[in-house]
Amino acid sequence: MPAEEVFIGIGSNIGDSIIIVEEAIDAIGNIQQCKLRGRSSLYRSTALGDIPQDDYINAVVKLETGLEPLQLLLELQAIEHAYYRKRDSEPRWGPRTLDLDIILFGNRVFEDSHLRLPHPEFSQRPFVLVPMFEIGGDRFVPGFGSLSYLIQQAPELAMEKLEANDA
Ligand code: ATP
Ligand code: CA
Ligand code: CA
Repeated sequence: MPAEEVFIGIGSNIGDSIIIVEEAIDAIGNIQQCKLRGRSSLYRSTALGDIPQDDYINAVVKLETGLEPLQLLLELQAIEHAYYRKRDSEPRWGPRTLDLDIILFGNRVFEDSHLRLPHPEFSQRPFVLVPMFEIGGDRFVPGFGSLSYLIQQAPELAMEKLEANDA
């Protein structure tokens, strides 16, 4: 299969978020034409935005996939739905059982009404950048710069790495 390297951001702040994120990582590894090539530690981070809500558990995984971006998005949305995420009744940026975002899909730049690549906010989100750095090293993202530079310029956000025995 002609494979491209993809980074997926995972978040949860309702329910047993540590277990939900771990199960989501397994589920992503089982998507057709996808091979898991790396996963970050779990991180606990303060929610963004004005809606008062619990902290998030976040992680990032690295995949190789032969799927096209929109096919992968549909597979990820099916996993979100398996966790009873009711997209229509949950406000954007509100609390959620599981959120799966495609951060980078190779070096593709793409935009339609369903998908934007790279993810439009990734460069401002430490809970995406730091786990990406952990699994991918200090890579250069075309149009943005190196991950170490992006981490330096991103807004401060309270965040801690969970040690394996916290989970
Ligand atoms: P944000 O995108 O700022 O992280 P969110 O994850 O809360 O916000 P959602 O309600 O999960 O937003 O998704 C809204 C829509 O965003 C989805 O229906 C999906 O079609 C679209 N979308 C656009 N680009 C992406 C991407 N790179 N990864 C995942 N979804 C995307
Ligand atoms: Ca998101
Ligand atoms: Ca999302």
